[in-house]
Amino acid sequence: MQPHSPEFPDLDLSALAAHASCLDDYDPNAMSVTQARHYIQQFLSPVSETATVAIKDSLGRVLAVPVTSGLNVPGHDNSAMDGFAFRHAEGGNALKIIGTAFAGVPYTAEIPPGCCIKIMTGAVIPPGVDTVIMQEHTATEGEWVTLTKLPALGANIRLTGEDIAAGQTVLAPGHRIQPADMGLLASLGIAGVEVYRRLKVAFFSTGDELVSVGQPLQQGQIYDSNRYSLWGVLQAAGVEMHDLGNVADDPAALEKTLLQAAAEHDVVITTGGVSVGEADFMKQLLAEHGQVLFWKINMKPGRPLAYGKIGDAHYFGLPGNPVSAMVTFYQFVQDALKHLAGTASLVSPTFKVECVDAIKKATGRTEFQRGILFKEGTDWKVKTTGQQGSGILSSMSLANCFIVLDEKTGALQAGALVDVQPFHGVC
Ligand code: AMP
Ligand code: MG
Repeated sequence: MQPHSPEFPDLDLSALAAHASCLDDYDPNAMSVTQARHYIQQFLSPVSETATVAIKDSLGRVLAVPVTSGLNVPGHDNSAMDGFAFRHAEGGNALKIIGTAFAGVPYTAEIPPGCCIKIMTGAVIPPGVDTVIMQEHTATEGEWVTLTKLPALGANIRLTGEDIAAGQTVLAPGHRIQPADMGLLASLGIAGVEVYRRLKVAFFSTGDELVSVGQPLQQGQIYDSNRYSLWGVLQAAGVEMHDLGNVADDPAALEKTLLQAAAEHDVVITTGGVSVGEADFMKQLLAEHGQVLFWKINMKPGRPLAYGKIGDAHYFGLPGNPVSAMVTFYQFVQDALKHLAGTASLVSPTFKVECVDAIKKATGRTEFQRGILFKEGTDWKVKTTGQQGSGILSSMSLANCFIVLDEKTGALQAGALVDVQPFHGVC
């Protein structure tokens, strides 16, 4: 690696490699998944520019400032049931029904002793009464009601501010807006929020053999699938993305695309050409224009991975094999993108379930096998998708989870407990 880049003279390019060599356990030819994640993490500083967006445009965006409520929610004590509002002390007697409170149309007159009002869910509790009884626990005769099952004092009343008190911080900076948050913001009368700008991510495929969909295949050519998988995962990640196409293994074309990508984006992702002993063009270019480390990660699939900086842009060189490209994206790039986008906490839960298939595996590396979670009786179990080769992209389509097998785990018999990382949750 060169100490300085002619394109980016201000950047101290010695930092990355120097840092790597200081790590006790740094061995580019045997990086564990955890080491690689930890290493990348240290170089990620979130974007700082912000923008204000309307609620309807806020889904998936990351809050830059806290959201504080200016209101109590609910704004007034109100009924949680359709029923009758009454004084608890008078609950043993028949009560006279003197009016009705609707949601949005309060009952404002005084309620004299021995009386009650009919009340609908969401209606304001008028002064003087303290409890609501659900309609099903009453017997009505003309204008009189008898309570057949007396509830506790204060029952069925939602209290002012019990959800959110005025002045309370409801969403912290770094929070990624989910559908419930959109409703929450609206419930507070907040029309827009300040969020970090979207990350700009460019990506391209490398390889002489690649052809884009829509063009005929010649002998020995294959369709470029990685760019479409990447399109999908980046779209789901909510970044501003730029597909730079597939670039032949041609130094001039690769250089031009790489430099343009790095100059205009926060992150550049390429697939292919980072394996040892091939596609030297990419390696040479990265050494010339940036500071990029090439790792052989103790994992399957996805062994070769390159990470570094080209100017201010973060660079991820993913393997060309379609499953490896997706697995390395999910296991390294996705969290890095979230972090760069300002997300405060990253949660990717795993669960232990029984695997109904035997698993072939050697110790010494982490594997992300493709699995199908399914329900048998009352229990969730997992089976494998079958062939686990790094080129078998249909295994990713069939799967709904990764079966995560750590370095210490060897071959497993059917019935063993394994960690699974589901692809989808409820939200
Ligand atoms: P490479 O990492 O460039 O050596 O590529 C490894 C394998 O993945 C080779 O079989 C490539 O043909 C294949 N491959 C590379 N890039 C892509 C792509 N964009 N789409 C589908 N397969 C690819
Ligand atoms: Mg290649």
